[in-house]
Amino acid sequence: MSGISDKTTERLRALKEDYLKSLPNRYNQLKKAAVKLIEGDSGKDIITDFRMQVHKIAGSAATFSLDILTEEAKILEEKIDEIIQNGKAPDEASSKFIISSLKKIRSICSDPAKFISVPEDVVISDLSAIEEKKVVFVLGENDLISKDLSEQLGYFGYTVQVINCFSSLKEHIKQARNELLIMNSNMIENKPMTAAAVKKIKEDADRQLSIIFFSDKDNFNIRHECVKSGGDDFFTIPLDVSRLIDRVDNLTNDENTNPYHVLIVDDDPEQVSYYALVLQQAGMITSVASDPKKVLDILSESKPDLILMDMYMPDCDGPDLAAIIRQQEAFLSIPIVFLSFESNKEIQFEAISHGGDDFLTKPIKPDFLISSVTSKAERNRTLRYFMERDSLTGLLNHVKLKEALFNEVLRAERTEAELCFAMIDIDHFKQVNDVHGHMTGDRVLKSLSRLLQDRLRRTDIIGRYGGEEFAVILLNTDLENAEIIMNKIRESFAQIRHVSSEGDFYVTFSCGIACYPHIKSASDINSAADQALYKAKEIGRNRIINASELSET
Ligand code: GH3
Ligand code: MG
Ligand code: MG
Repeated sequence: MSGISDKTTERLRALKEDYLKSLPNRYNQLKKAAVKLIEGDSGKDIITDFRMQVHKIAGSAATFSLDILTEEAKILEEKIDEIIQNGKAPDEASSKFIISSLKKIRSICSDPAKFISVPEDVVISDLSAIEEKKVVFVLGENDLISKDLSEQLGYFGYTVQVINCFSSLKEHIKQARNELLIMNSNMIENKPMTAAAVKKIKEDADRQLSIIFFSDKDNFNIRHECVKSGGDDFFTIPLDVSRLIDRVDNLTNDENTNPYHVLIVDDDPEQVSYYALVLQQAGMITSVASDPKKVLDILSESKPDLILMDMYMPDCDGPDLAAIIRQQEAFLSIPIVFLSFESNKEIQFEAISHGGDDFLTKPIKPDFLISSVTSKAERNRTLRYFMERDSLTGLLNHVKLKEALFNEVLRAERTEAELCFAMIDIDHFKQVNDVHGHMTGDRVLKSLSRLLQDRLRRTDIIGRYGGEEFAVILLNTDLENAEIIMNKIRESFAQIRHVSSEGDFYVTFSCGIACYPHIKSASDINSAADQALYKAKEIGRNRIINASELSET
């Protein structure tokens, strides 16, 4: 086994065992359906129900590599298709065929272990362990600079470890799971031995190690020495924090920080567990709908990146369900991938023409499933990103944010939850542009966006409302807590140092908050927050006002 953890192997084995144990029961269900059919109950539902059960046996057996059962069920399914095409009740020969096929299936189901084929190696890389908080090492002799760096990076959610002596660096790097080192160039300047040692540490690191140098000088020779020691970037003092954060984010970027979310729609619990485990092992989040009727509700609660759908389910077929999903504008773009044992190309084509994006057939190798799902989910995310996001900050655009507020208020109403809406406007931003230039202004906007993303929970919704205005929806948060959270962000933002050729400067913002259920509708919440923000500006800026204070005065 390569790549897959022992724990997962163990869980896959356990799932397979559960499946094997469920076989006698599955056989009994199948037999009941067959008896109804053979005893002359000629209703159309009877035979389609029987066909579905046989199909399910074939598909689940394929998933768990019980090939002999797949083959047997496939033969029986072909026979049933023949009967369906004839349009009559099964004749004597067909009945005999069914009975003899059932006997074979029974013998397999009663002792499946005897028939199990040697399973193929499951090759999936173990990406499930995701690092929580990112650590950055700062190596430098000047305590003031290191302290300042720790503080500024700290505002953006990084933990900084300052190392004063070069000799302990190697040990620190070896023990850590992170991959960024920031160091003062004076540690390698005119010290070729140390420079070579730094380069070697970078080359020997288990994970990719990025290095940023900083220096109080800027000339070609220093930059050259830093590059030769493995430097990925070079910053001059005073450090431009927002540019540094961009670079640090970029160099420590963990592709898995926002895992794909896959909704599996299938009524077979063992298979669902199997596919969920395979996808989870690849770092994805899975949720399950075993009842097709619940899918629309689930979709409006959470927006998966992809739906993996079974073809045959009681009450509603996969293609019908896909067609229903596609009728809702909000779900038009979610990729739907059918995963089925169905090998009939016409049926596959039909399913795709109902709104499916792809058709994967069982049995499917875990790696292939993962790569198919990943590529479709990734494309969908990219498309959605450009449609819904602001290009400078990557936050939700105005339209999407208002839509989100509307939906979240409805949800809060349904679930009897609270939520707060906070509108933020940067103070005297025109002056920032006038004095420091538009590009520096853009950096300030990005740093506020980055700060909001770091400080709020992943479930909170953040948008750029327009120009230098932002808005956030704090879910399940009451007014008191929203004020505490926003105030902390306000204080941190005010301490972030911005840099331009005109010199260092600091920026503040004002904020207005309104909450549900104190105010009932999304549009009233919006205007109340706006009024509160106006008030905050009026009485001096750099403060937070909540809408209920307005009504009291
Ligand atoms: P107040 O404290 O009252 O909010 O003052 P202000 O100067 O921030 O407000 P005002 O609405 O007068 O000015 C907003 C400025 O924001 C004017 C506009 O040029 C600038 N702005 C809007 N969008 C952007 C942007 O994308 N980038 C940059 N750099 N500036 C922007
Ligand atoms: Mg404004
Ligand atoms: Mg403003």
